[in-house]
Amino acid sequence: MSKRAPLSDPQRYQVYALENEFLKAWLQTRQPLSQLQTLADKACKRWGCELIPIRFKPNTPEELYGCFFEGPPARIELYNKKRVSGRNIPVLLHEVAHHIESELFDEASHGPKWAAVVMDLYDHYKIVPEGQFRKLAKKFKVKIAKL
Ligand SMILES: [Zn+2]
Repeated sequence: MSKRAPLSDPQRYQVYALENEFLKAWLQTRQPLSQLQTLADKACKRWGCELIPIRFKPNTPEELYGCFFEGPPARIELYNKKRVSGRNIPVLLHEVAHHIESELFDEASHGPKWAAVVMDLYDHYKIVPEGQFRKLAKKFKVKIAKL
C-alpha cells in the first residue's frame, strides 16, 4: 500500500471554531472505551462503512483530542490530558466522520462532505441538532455538502 499525500484541509480552523461553541463542557467528561467503541460501530453501520477500532492513547505534542489514521491498520486514537480529554462522544464522532468520509468520498479532511457526515452524526446522537449546526456553520463559514 502506498502512502498518499496529505489531503488539503481548507476548512480546518473554521470547523475547530464551530466545535469550540459546544465542545468545552464535553472535554471535562470521559466515557469508557467499550461505550465509545459501541457508538463508533453504530455510526459506521449507519453509513454502511467498515467498523474501525478505537484506541486510548496518552497526550500528543500536537495537543490533539483525537486522530483518525487511514492506516493500514485504520484506527482512531483518543487522547487524554491533565484537565481535558478527547475520550468523549463528540470527539469520537468527529473522528468517525473522518473515517466515513474517507471511505465513502475521500474529499478534504474537514471539507463539505465531512461536515455533512459529522452534522448527521451530531444530530442523530443528540450532540447538536442539525438546525443549530447549520447556524454555527453559517457563522463560522463552514460549507456543508448535500449528500
Ligand atoms: Zn478533524
